[in-house]
Amino acid sequence: MLVVNGKSILNGIAIGPLLVYHKADAAVSSATALTPQEEWTRFEDACEKVKEHLADLYEKALEDVGEENAAIFEIHQMMLEDEDYLDAVKDMLETQGTSAEYAASTVGDQFSASFAAMDDAYMQARAADVRDVSHQVVNMLTGRTDGTLLGDRPVILVADDLTPSETIQLDKSKLLGFITRHGSSNSHTAILARTMNIPALVGVDIDESWDGQMAVLDGYHHCAHINPTPDLLSSMEEKRKQDLEDQAALQKLKGLANVTLNGTEVNVYANIGNVGDVGLVVQNDAGGIGLFRSEFIYLEADDYPTEEQQFIIYKRVVQAMAGKKVVFRTLDIGADKQAAYFHLDDEANPAMGYRAIRICLTRKDIFKQQLRAMLRASAFGTVSIMFPMIISVQEVREAKHVLAECREELVSEGEAIGEVELGIMVETPAAVMMADELAEEVSFFSLGTNDLTQYTLAIDRQNSKLDAINDPHHPAVLRMIRHTIEAGHRHNCWVGICGELGADPTLTETFLRMGVDELSVSPASVLPLRRRIRSLDLNQEPETQVPACDPCK
Ligand code: PEP
Ligand code: MG
Repeated sequence: MLVVNGKSILNGIAIGPLLVYHKADAAVSSATALTPQEEWTRFEDACEKVKEHLADLYEKALEDVGEENAAIFEIHQMMLEDEDYLDAVKDMLETQGTSAEYAASTVGDQFSASFAAMDDAYMQARAADVRDVSHQVVNMLTGRTDGTLLGDRPVILVADDLTPSETIQLDKSKLLGFITRHGSSNSHTAILARTMNIPALVGVDIDESWDGQMAVLDGYHHCAHINPTPDLLSSMEEKRKQDLEDQAALQKLKGLANVTLNGTEVNVYANIGNVGDVGLVVQNDAGGIGLFRSEFIYLEADDYPTEEQQFIIYKRVVQAMAGKKVVFRTLDIGADKQAAYFHLDDEANPAMGYRAIRICLTRKDIFKQQLRAMLRASAFGTVSIMFPMIISVQEVREAKHVLAECREELVSEGEAIGEVELGIMVETPAAVMMADELAEEVSFFSLGTNDLTQYTLAIDRQNSKLDAINDPHHPAVLRMIRHTIEAGHRHNCWVGICGELGADPTLTETFLRMGVDELSVSPASVLPLRRRIRSLDLNQEPETQVPACDPCK
């Protein structure tokens, strides 16, 4: 048995034979007996046919994986209308007298290489799209197809790389999972894999000799076992069986309301850290995004992401949610989340140090870039913005002032901006105690129970030695939650929970009895939480006691 590691795209297990996929040989002949004009007509016909094919793929993807994830096939269609690309092909036909397939292939390679050399990560990622599209035009011109990748029996596909168009065309009933050498967890292919609910590993040192061998892809542990032992195989088969049974039962909850037996409804949203997670949100039927941890964009970058780079990401997220609410949290860098280019000083107590809103209010250049990007994205859907680590009314007013400045600037620049709801994270005891005053400033509170637990219990959340006493069920934490919900409601603020505690099924009843309006959890927890909510009857005797709340303000 051989064990290989990679990066898992989806938690899950796939068991089956491996099929090593080779792309068709891209070498094409430059020779032709036709005139440049005749070759140009062949090229134009091929482009039209590829566009029709892409339009079909778009429709298929729309049904399978939703609008945002299908959009890549529209982008591919647009690439075939790009003037620069078309002019370059025409020029080559006229000046070099080559075949149309040779010109399409050469120009595709050149464009792809120039995208790959750009500094901007988004543009670099477009190199694969250009290669994919020109490959399709060449196939159309040569009458060659990549064929049906998959045979009759279900397989785990092994490939150097898979393009979005290859991925979406795979017959899901024959695809157990895939393992690739290249590909990032943010690539369109990864987004499609997640949305299609296919376990996948990327970044694996693949080997052609695996073809036909049995394998277990273990997405939970980021690895694959090639030629597994009989013991491992049977234990993984058992685990897979349980997973399938549970997933099948959960799928039946899609489209159903998050409502208790006695009719109490609550919003169940999802927490994500980057645009690649949106597929999971859609797949798990979350009602919105309750926490977009924007700092992950900064953590993945080598330098401050520009307004434009952020705008592209926020807009994609908002569009993918197609009108459902997206709550963007402004930068929460510092403490355990460090990016070298911020040059933050070492601190004795970084969790209680220079972080989050404290950085934003002293580095307004960074803050404004981010707020402008979020405001611009608001024109494309339903956007809320919330500020982390708030301890005072003064901070909220200052942050609102910066937001208003950004809004004015954008309006005077003629940018479209939507209605933006404003909120704060309640994750410090100070914010809890000031909840009545803070609620006058904003429209919603989102309880960050991870930090609220750490600051309430004075237990560093990073310190594993204190795990035994780090108890988020502590009555002090639960009373803070209850106090915040009640204060928020007194001032027409809706109140949600976006910390990990929101997904704890043993507390769902408690939170609903407290009157929480929204629970925002990891995408995979959405349907299990819905199941829990639908099993509760708040007219019955409480299974759990709601902790008493100090009525003093
Ligand atoms: C929290 O503190 O509960 C929270 C949601 O934010 P983070 O975990 O990112 O600090
Ligand atoms: Mg927090």
